[in-house]
Amino acid sequence: MQRRFEPARTSDGHTIEVVMNINQPKELESALELGGEGVGLMRTEFLYLESDHIPSEDEQERAYRAMAEALGDKPLIIRTLDIGGDKEVAYLNLQKEENAFLGTRGIRLCFCREDLFLPQLRAICRVAKDHKNVKVMFPMIATMADWRRAKGLLDQVAAEVGLDHMPVGVMIEVPSAALIAEQLAAEVAFFSVGTNDLTQYTLAMDRMNAELAPQTDPLHPAVLQLIHRSAQAINGVGKWIGVCGGLAGDRLGALVLVGLGVRELSVSPKEVVRIKDGLKAVSFAKLSQLAHQALTLADGDQVRELFRRELNL
Ligand code: PEP
Ligand code: MG
Repeated sequence: MQRRFEPARTSDGHTIEVVMNINQPKELESALELGGEGVGLMRTEFLYLESDHIPSEDEQERAYRAMAEALGDKPLIIRTLDIGGDKEVAYLNLQKEENAFLGTRGIRLCFCREDLFLPQLRAICRVAKDHKNVKVMFPMIATMADWRRAKGLLDQVAAEVGLDHMPVGVMIEVPSAALIAEQLAAEVAFFSVGTNDLTQYTLAMDRMNAELAPQTDPLHPAVLQLIHRSAQAINGVGKWIGVCGGLAGDRLGALVLVGLGVRELSVSPKEVVRIKDGLKAVSFAKLSQLAHQALTLADGDQVRELFRRELNL
């Protein structure tokens, strides 16, 4: 088998799934050639951002179906709409917010705009009925009430469509979600950590602020603590945790995440081989030891320094 298609297995036999962040079916064919084992994050808001009108339920269904079909048996994780924050859709005429990242974004907007959310859920369920590789996840979950409300709406739509099963997960990108991970883990099928948002909300540093960029560090031990906590909670009930934020595509970051118990990394297609190679070169036992040590350090630079020194990176 060509190297890029081999699974990412550490030297002591621990396998990590390396999948891709892909938004559009047209990107998929060439991306699969780069060795990704499926799609871990389809940002569906791009269907809205790249259109001049609200994509109809049928248009959405076509896009999700094309992705699911092209993937065959490989997984497809569709994330429901995450509009708001940095992602503005002019034709929706949403109210300007003082603090958009702390405002009505992601799942919160979907609750206010069922006219957007329900057709999307119907389109996803219609495709999931024919394609067992489809999973769905909700962005910006902050409370149990968020999760239960989103899942309740999805269950209603699934019943209407005649879909009996689809794995449903949540993104861990708001610190409160990580702090109630045990409760969430009991009800969801999986977690996917959005390190871009989890970092900005944990450190209270706007991810778009260039001046703060050097300090907005996803390897800060405070962020790692939240990921570790989430991993323990979900692995403890025999389910899995992935990461689809930027840290998963960083070679050193991926090693830290795997050491914390992450089982799936969703990265940009061009990073797949590098991330797989990085994992093949190390043992899980060592990563686990180093990642636990990292939790006690003072900042992200110390974490990088520890991994570089101990693994000769
Ligand atoms: C994240 O927050 O890390 C994430 C994957 O979602 P987005 O970047 O689309 O907010
Ligand atoms: Mg996010």
